[in-house]
Amino acid sequence: MVKENNLSLYNTLTRSCRPFHPIQEGHVGMYVCGPTVYGDAHLGHARPAITFDILFRYLRHLGYKVRYVRNITDVGHLEHDADEGEDKIAKKARLEMLEPMEVVQHYLIRYHRDMEALNVLPPSIEPHASGHIIEQIEYVKKILESGYAYESCGSVYFDVSRYNADHHYGKLSGRNIDDLLSTTRALDGQEEKRNPLDFALWKKAAPEHIMHWPSPWSEGFPGWHLECSTMGRKYLGDTFDIHGGGMDLMFPHHECEIAQSVAAQGHEAVKCWMHNNMITIDGKKMGKSYGNFITLEQFFTGDHPLLTQAFSPMVIRYFILQAHYRSVVNFSSEALQAAEKALGRLQDAYMRLQALNPAEKSTEMVPDLMAKCYEALDDDLNTPNVISVLFEAVKIINSAADGLVRLDAGDIARLKELFDVMLGEILGIRLESVGSSSDSEAYKGAVDLLMEIRANAKQAKDWTTSDLIRDKLAALGFSVKDTKNGVEWSVK
Ligand code: ZN
Repeated sequence: MVKENNLSLYNTLTRSCRPFHPIQEGHVGMYVCGPTVYGDAHLGHARPAITFDILFRYLRHLGYKVRYVRNITDVGHLEHDADEGEDKIAKKARLEMLEPMEVVQHYLIRYHRDMEALNVLPPSIEPHASGHIIEQIEYVKKILESGYAYESCGSVYFDVSRYNADHHYGKLSGRNIDDLLSTTRALDGQEEKRNPLDFALWKKAAPEHIMHWPSPWSEGFPGWHLECSTMGRKYLGDTFDIHGGGMDLMFPHHECEIAQSVAAQGHEAVKCWMHNNMITIDGKKMGKSYGNFITLEQFFTGDHPLLTQAFSPMVIRYFILQAHYRSVVNFSSEALQAAEKALGRLQDAYMRLQALNPAEKSTEMVPDLMAKCYEALDDDLNTPNVISVLFEAVKIINSAADGLVRLDAGDIARLKELFDVMLGEILGIRLESVGSSSDSEAYKGAVDLLMEIRANAKQAKDWTTSDLIRDKLAALGFSVKDTKNGVEWSVK
């Protein structure tokens, strides 16, 4: 039985909004803005998840202990902008006649399932905004104390012009308040604000708003920008190393976060900001209104008019990693097919590598490809360069498998380590699950059986049967090669 006064104990414990176990010296604190869970995940969700998964994996590989926090927005993200419209989750709950947390749970389970399919590691902590209302209220109080916020009709707003008189609002995105003001028009119903750029820290709930909590100002809910400042500080401390998210969050979300931390804590909280760029579909922004909105599940099943086939999660992952995280990725079915082919070539080379017999001495010098990969990753996480180094390895492996060069045991072991560490551990590609067929084992077995029948036919000089198998397979898109070590086949 929980006694009532336990709540005040909880209040005392959480009042400081500080971690119970602060990050140790030499460890890395990393915060990434997570999803608002009111619909199925799409490519736009996959990109930040995969980008920061690479960073998480690489830092851990280098020996850092990383505390990786990725939040779940389950309250306060309004439809039109940060302060206007209906709460996205509350709207879904109203339409489907569900409790808002049922909506959150439903889509969160599906989000986790998609992330697991993409081989995205779970973060260390996945805090929910709705689970940190007390901390958010405390944070608003601190901002009010600093004089950079004001109360108006039960809501609390951040005073952007007051803040900008002392600090630069817009420094992260290179904007300034005069330009912002000239492009912002005052919206109806915003007369509570002193200035149209001011953003809500706490909103008084309208009578029809179903998610609300008591606070010193009103029965209401926190503003969306507040949760990341509060939960980042709670789990990572007053200052932490890395804050990531999509480029679309840089303004206003991350600018607001900076202003909030400076106001509440007297200094910025984040040492390094990282933003991944966007994904376009056939050159257009992705959105429901463009009819080009494809969920991850639809990619995995191929069930969308813009898709010519299903694509395995590893192809999606590889497709995203082929581009540097700061450049725009343009999706098209052809681009994904090219990614599938390229990944297939990496997979074939990996399989051929496992079957190589070592020579006494290598006939060719194999460059230090591992060092080149580290260099690429240290250069702002340059995954396309890592991939091009892996293709240098593919060339060497294929030459060795075709008998053109010979590799000794040391070189073969180094190439295996390169694939296992760079492609498997850091790029997070599960090599065994490439290809859109879930029955790939059975499929491989069947083609191998055809190869065996063809070999027997050849031995018996039954050229009609052996040519028939080769030609029919070629017509189906297979390539069959007779090598010194037997027959090799692949899909072109
Ligand atoms: Zn955020």
